[in-house]
Amino acid sequence: MQRRVGVMGGTFDPIHHGHLVAASEVADRFGLDEVVFVPTGQPWQKAGNEVSPAEDRYLMTVIATASNPRFSVSRVDIDRGGPTYTADTLADLRKTLLDAQLFFITGADALEQILSWRKLDELFENAHFIGVTRPGYELDGAHLPKGAVSLVEVPAMAISSTDCRERVAAGRPVWYLVPDGVVQYISKRRLYRGDADRAS
Ligand code: ATP
Ligand code: MG
Repeated sequence: MQRRVGVMGGTFDPIHHGHLVAASEVADRFGLDEVVFVPTGQPWQKAGNEVSPAEDRYLMTVIATASNPRFSVSRVDIDRGGPTYTADTLADLRKTLLDAQLFFITGADALEQILSWRKLDELFENAHFIGVTRPGYELDGAHLPKGAVSLVEVPAMAISSTDCRERVAAGRPVWYLVPDGVVQYISKRRLYRGDADRAS
């Protein structure tokens, strides 16, 4: 039977329980065999903002997903370098997942931007899109091509990477917002502290 593979793209700076719950819930609802997390290269949506080194974001994603046998992490976007376009992500994943059925998982906020993405037709050809609910954002597929996108309600997790970064910068806790290993990695690498002496 054709493998059903979820693709969860993100900056993951840092990865948090909102990402993990979304992936887990969609995997269950859509009977996915696997979910591949794909940390971005330098994302164009965030050009100008500082994004942590790709290797740190990659390792945090590995740490967060390691215990789930159905979760894995792909380096395709990091190794390609430069800004990440979802069309390239899907095309690169397709090379190793030849006849798999791909499901691209995206939060309500990112789904908003979907129509502004490059190569929209190619995107919908390569994957079925799944938009998940996210507190603070309206999940509205009205303007999306019929049949190309499914909307799924996932347990509400009012967590964002931005808030996690701000918490660390202010010396406040991120315990239970991100997996324990990620809390420890952030501390070990002194990420988000706004100081210049981050180990490189
Ligand atoms: P930032 O605040 O830096 O933008 P983020 O929390 O939005 O970070 P991203 O890496 O930008 O995380 O998101 C990757 C994907 O996960 C996007 O599709 C986003 O919509 C989705 N996502 C992020 N947080 C949640 C959440 N709490 N619930 C559901 N989906 C989420
Ligand atoms: Mg975001």
